[in-house]
Amino acid sequence: LVDFRAEKPNWCPGCGDFTVLAALQKAAVNIGLEPEQMVTVSGVGCSGKISQYMGSYGFHSLHGRSLPVATAVKLANRDLTVVAAGGDGDGYGIGMGHFIHAMRRNIDITYLVMDNHIYGLTTGQTSPTSDKGSKTKTAPDGAVEEPVHPLQMALMAGCGFVAQGYSGNLKQLTELIEKGMQHRGFSLINIYSPCVTFNKVNTYDFYKSNLVNIDEDASYDKTDRFAAIRKLEEHEENVTGVLYHNPAKQAYDEVLRGYPEQAIAKNDLKITRDQWEKLAVQFK
Ligand code: SF4
Repeated sequence: LVDFRAEKPNWCPGCGDFTVLAALQKAAVNIGLEPEQMVTVSGVGCSGKISQYMGSYGFHSLHGRSLPVATAVKLANRDLTVVAAGGDGDGYGIGMGHFIHAMRRNIDITYLVMDNHIYGLTTGQTSPTSDKGSKTKTAPDGAVEEPVHPLQMALMAGCGFVAQGYSGNLKQLTELIEKGMQHRGFSLINIYSPCVTFNKVNTYDFYKSNLVNIDEDASYDKTDRFAAIRKLEEHEENVTGVLYHNPAKQAYDEVLRGYPEQAIAKNDLKITRDQWEKLAVQFK
């Protein structure tokens, strides 16, 4: 576990993101990864700092752009385990277009979204997942918009692994991340990760009283996409566990015709003098 530790986090004491980092580190160890076999790519926000704190390779990208960077990393070196991470504002606001297309393409990435229903780094504005009516700095009388529903969107976009975790349950979150990383294709793990400083509604106490753990329901069929949609509606999305898993869906690099077996990054890029001279003439 020590190998996956890097900088000491400076999140507010009690922030849910501490648990997400711990779960990611534990999951990496549990599935036998070495730090150099993994890349953590993040966007911008409090949660975006995770790529500095995770002792794997890391890339702290631009706001909302963790998925295109993670896509490039995976396609260049398919041997790496690639995790993209960020918050609800980063991923479901400015990054929404990338989110939908990464799922549609089924890039082999595990996407962790630390969903605290608010913009934390910029001190508490309404985010895409803020509940209708929630009061924030930018909506002092209560948000009038409907929130986005990322799990439902993922199910409709054909995502092959859709799960939700909670920062108050490290054990379950670790297992979800392990399963997500082992799934071949895009996996979404939305994580209720309380912002203890700016969100006084979606707190640990709120989740403790409202969340239903579907992993404990042996009769729930995780391969039934419509059952997953019904489950979300039944519990107003306050569920944790694997909602949907389709292991048969092929990942992008498996179906792309002509994609080399060997990671592109490992190809011999040496060129002969003859080839170099031809190139030089071409670009003269
Ligand atoms: Fe966490 Fe909120 Fe503090 Fe950001 S502002 S570190 S999300 S508690």
